[in-house]
Amino acid sequence: MHLGNFIGGAFVAPQSGNYLDDINPSTEEVIAQIPDSDERDVDAAVRAAAIAFPAWSKTPAAERSKLLLKLADAIEKNFDELAELESRDSGKPLSLARLLDIPRAIANFRFFATAILHDSSDAHIMDATAINYTLRQPLGVVGLISPWNLPLYLLSWKIAPAIASGNTCVAKPSEMTPLTANRLAELSIDAGIPPGVINIVHGYGQKAGRALTTHDDVAAISFTGGTVTGSAVAANAAPRFKKLSLELGGKNPTVVFADADLDQAFKDTLRASFWNQGEICLCGSRLFVEQPIYDTFVEGFVERTKQLRLGEDYGALISAAHLEKVTGYIELAKNEGGTIATGGNRVDRKGYFVEPTVITGLGCDCRVLQEEIFGPVVTITPFTDEAEAIAFANSTRYGLSASVWTRDLSRAHRVAAALDSGTVWINTWLLRDLRVPFGGMKESGVGREGGFESLRFFTEAKNVCVKL
Ligand code: NDP
Repeated sequence: MHLGNFIGGAFVAPQSGNYLDDINPSTEEVIAQIPDSDERDVDAAVRAAAIAFPAWSKTPAAERSKLLLKLADAIEKNFDELAELESRDSGKPLSLARLLDIPRAIANFRFFATAILHDSSDAHIMDATAINYTLRQPLGVVGLISPWNLPLYLLSWKIAPAIASGNTCVAKPSEMTPLTANRLAELSIDAGIPPGVINIVHGYGQKAGRALTTHDDVAAISFTGGTVTGSAVAANAAPRFKKLSLELGGKNPTVVFADADLDQAFKDTLRASFWNQGEICLCGSRLFVEQPIYDTFVEGFVERTKQLRLGEDYGALISAAHLEKVTGYIELAKNEGGTIATGGNRVDRKGYFVEPTVITGLGCDCRVLQEEIFGPVVTITPFTDEAEAIAFANSTRYGLSASVWTRDLSRAHRVAAALDSGTVWINTWLLRDLRVPFGGMKESGVGREGGFESLRFFTEAKNVCVKL
């Protein structure tokens, strides 16, 4: 299967004529060839988006809303196919693609399709002197760069608010997971979204992604990916004064106090550790457990981890390179003095599978507790009191999300306020309301997306002052 770039409503070959292999991580087989795009392809896509912008930005919100809702319906109608494509492309269990990825892509389009109908503008009245009101106008052509871990979920999280608010876009999905992006492109035309509103360019981040972040006619970049890449994106985009939203990596703490509901904590912290084989930016990879229940917790957690089933509860890592990185961290854990309580090995079969791995005996300053592994590998560390739990949780350069487990309501609020974290879950994990601000502190990102934050990002505020 040769995929094309989606430019101006049609699939076209890359100008270089070069293609990259798209590999199924569960079988290690090549399943598609995708364009190895360069700046010429990005330029063509930006031009197509610029041509589509005047008409699309003037299309009434009610009409844009209708078209996005149609796209959501089209995704829903093709649910099985999209879930299957996502699972094959990314290595995740089919059941997870059905439970998480595709429902969320549908929800993203429905949410922003209707959010634009409820948005409002501000007015600032200067006594009897003047009225100010704020126009929020689309930016123009926006660049959207997304990673491989939740391909359609995160791509639609960007495309939906971008085009709902009247922009046209050029999206660059990860070259490792191109399939659902192309199917989405086809469905967008079926739904009646005009050619040029959504453009998709495949290829390497260093080439196609970089060309997008440095293109003079791209007004904003919304980027989700690793912190190191985010820094390169910021360095390229900043001299051109592009609006930037950066959703980056995490090393998220899970804090379990002795008074927690342990049955519920086991269920959700296991999910937080190993869902999508740990390849979710919000996964809790550092567990901190209060001393009195530490031994019981470790025993129960390890027991439950051993029962996780390949293909149901966890899938393959995205690539051979990522497999090497994750297993490298397991080796590092041993060198740093950690104990592998369970797992620790590559699964003996074809595909990039690693056993869900639990490590104990490491302190917060170890590299294994400082660096993002992004795989099915967690550490468990005891703490003695609330102050120590907060200090441990805050001891990395990241600040994306955290979950806290306690029945003490006052403590829950205190700890939530003290954590360096863009999102704090109390007695739950990954419970997402699409209206809330989402993003990271410290090196986990800049800016917030979600709800009206996304609509604000994808529009320019203009003040109009009318003298009375
Ligand atoms: P990367 O940072 O490697 O890549 C993200 C995207 O950026 C890919 O499409 C990539 O293309 C592209 N890219 C790479 N280099 C450049 C460049 N110089 N200019 C422009 N674009 C570029 O992340 P991964 O794909 O490995 O995803 C995993 C990371 O994403 C983890 O760190 C995870 O925590 C983070 N993440 C953060 C989330 C959040 O909301 N905060 C959510 C999900 C993931 P290519 O694939 O070709 O390199």
